[in-house]
Amino acid sequence: MPASFHPPVRTLMGPGPSDVNPRILEALSRPTIGHLDPVFVGLMDEIKSLLQFAFQTKNALTLPVSAPGSAGMETCFVNLVSPGDTVVIAQNGVFGGRMQENVERCGGTAVMVKDEWGTAVDPQKVEDALKANPAAKVLAFVHAETSTGARSDAASLCELASSHDCLTIVDTVTSLGGIEVDIDGWGADAVYSGTQKCLSCVPGLSPVTFSERAAEVIKARDHRAQSWFLDLELVMSYWGEGAQRAYHHTAPINALYGLHEALLILHEEGLPEAWARHRRNHTALAAGLQTLGIEFVVDADHRLPQLNCVRFPDGIDDAAVRKALLGQYQLEIGAGLGPLAGKVWRIGLMGFASNQKNVLLCLGALESVLLQQGEKLEAGAAVAAAQASFAS
Ligand SMILES: *Cc1c(COP(=O)(O)O)cnc(C)c1O
Repeated sequence: MPASFHPPVRTLMGPGPSDVNPRILEALSRPTIGHLDPVFVGLMDEIKSLLQFAFQTKNALTLPVSAPGSAGMETCFVNLVSPGDTVVIAQNGVFGGRMQENVERCGGTAVMVKDEWGTAVDPQKVEDALKANPAAKVLAFVHAETSTGARSDAASLCELASSHDCLTIVDTVTSLGGIEVDIDGWGADAVYSGTQKCLSCVPGLSPVTFSERAAEVIKARDHRAQSWFLDLELVMSYWGEGAQRAYHHTAPINALYGLHEALLILHEEGLPEAWARHRRNHTALAAGLQTLGIEFVVDADHRLPQLNCVRFPDGIDDAAVRKALLGQYQLEIGAGLGPLAGKVWRIGLMGFASNQKNVLLCLGALESVLLQQGEKLEAGAAVAAAQASFAS
């Protein structure tokens, strides 16, 4: 006889999902109401304005797509890329490769500009590609590459695109709430994010925002978007302005209670304060990792504080270490992806999980597991280095 499912209580320090704030779990359990209930419509409006706050934008076309970050990605591509369009994609990790798939499935041509995994997107190469492809309609790139821990310069890339008369599609799934995201300041056109990274909400929603320029391109389309579910013209009959909302799909009501709570928490803390917290915890973690002989993949200028991609010492049994962390400490860290598989760990300090307790837990646990594996380490040094960093 199957019984109710009670998951173990883990500490989630991988590439997402991250630890969910208990306030959000409590919000999820509140009574479900109808998706056209006037009280719910009021909540939708509040979520839109809280998302505008988080994205730092005045864009009217700002909403959470009812599906995970990958669906936000598709929403941007299926609404802006028409058959025959050329899209320049800057790829420096896994997610740029998915952008290529999206463009090709929309009937577009993807011009790939590739950078080494672990480095930021090189604006010079992007400029060369934009010059070589004057018909390009869109430049797409990932702000915070979760597969490598690298941050690219979104402001410069958006400026380059607009000087070549291109729209931008920007992935901010891992950046929103963890480092500065400034949609209006950057002049970005179509942007998607996720709820389970630095917003510390449950997975399954994807905040998106579109500039007026992008909204006009969508309105002027002379063909139907390739996806019915993600066609913003249809979605906006439900999420649009005014009290008149028509049924498109049933919104994930309780998940939206959770997102509302997550955004309130971010608003209460303040954006600069949230970014500073992520930086502080990253600095302490880095100080501890150094004593363990663990090095960062990304140079200091382009590191994401919320996603620490690190090379472990030679001869370490990657899977055994992660298994011991989970079994002995209930601690999840991430493995490497693609060319970095088996070479790196990805230690997340995202949202609610970015705190002093988790930094110290992770360092203490890693040190003890590495000692069990026969590494020669000075016991206690990692936690002490992090403590010193917090005290300074
Ligand atoms: C996690 C992630 C996604 C995909 O989000 P899902 O919620 O897993 O669909 C897209 N882009 C980046 C950079 C991510 O880190």
